Amino acid sequence: MTQTGSRVGSATVTFAGSGDAFGSGGRLQACILLRADDQPPVLLDCGATSLVALKRRAIDPNLVAAVFVSHMHVDHFGGVPPLILDGQFSRRTAPLTVIGPAGAERRLAAAMEVIFPGSSAVHRRFAVNVVELEPGATPRLIDGVTVQGWPVDHGIHGGPFLGLRLAIGGAIIGYTGDTAWTDTLLDIAAGADLFIAESYYWDKQVSYHLRHADLLAHRDQLGGVRTILTHMSDDMLSHCTRGPIRARLRRSQRDRVKGPGERYRQGEDHRLVVDRVADEWAGHAVTAAAAAAEFCADDCDDLDARLA
Ligand SMILES: [Zn+2]
Ligand SMILES: [Zn+2]
Repeated sequence: MTQTGSRVGSATVTFAGSGDAFGSGGRLQACILLRADDQPPVLLDCGATSLVALKRRAIDPNLVAAVFVSHMHVDHFGGVPPLILDGQFSRRTAPLTVIGPAGAERRLAAAMEVIFPGSSAVHRRFAVNVVELEPGATPRLIDGVTVQGWPVDHGIHGGPFLGLRLAIGGAIIGYTGDTAWTDTLLDIAAGADLFIAESYYWDKQVSYHLRHADLLAHRDQLGGVRTILTHMSDDMLSHCTRGPIRARLRRSQRDRVKGPGERYRQGEDHRLVVDRVADEWAGHAVTAAAAAAEFCADDCDDLDARLA
């Protein structure tokens, strides 16, 4: 991480889930755990499979203090009702904050009633507090994280849709959520230590989603910010496991890349892989893209990025 001014400390980013809505590549849906020293972890998006993602990694969901939701689609928000119910059944006492776009409180209640009828108004030992973000408004400090929501372009139904910029533990993290390219992403990524970007398709034109081609087209404007791609479709993944990205990754990692089906060890190795890719791709917007894509077999969701 580039440390400037008063930005000190560190944050750990764990991609417990990094997939799209449809299970492409066998990946779990968006579930990005952010941890800073001396404060409870928070989630950046919480797709429907998030309890599986957390428990696979032996992370107690009841430790999650807050969930920052980019938008109210199932692969970004559908895990919130089960998270609340799991907390209820496991005697959670710590409050949970859900931060999302306008309408989040109403839609959370509606989703709980659809999925678990009668659950939205039940008495619990812990409070669920919903904070609705005004797009573009002044950053807010919530549960130790400073967050700002930005309007993005993800369709005409079910919005508003947000890109998010968070400051946690001295690190700044930009997150596109789901969106077609919009210059708002430049604001979200500006000076960030890590830019987490949707890369749904390689170069096929799809409405309201971001493509690898869009990121490449704007890489100079993005200024070489360290970028990790998520939300990849089968089409995008096919370009990552063979073809030019894989070839470049092989060169950049001096054959440390394992072949399809081979597993990386947990922990430090992952971070080394990511860091080396980031270093050697400096100046390119899509730095750690290939590293993310490499974890696409059984380990697909095990990509940690330590920002320190
Ligand atoms: Zn999505
Ligand atoms: Zn979406």
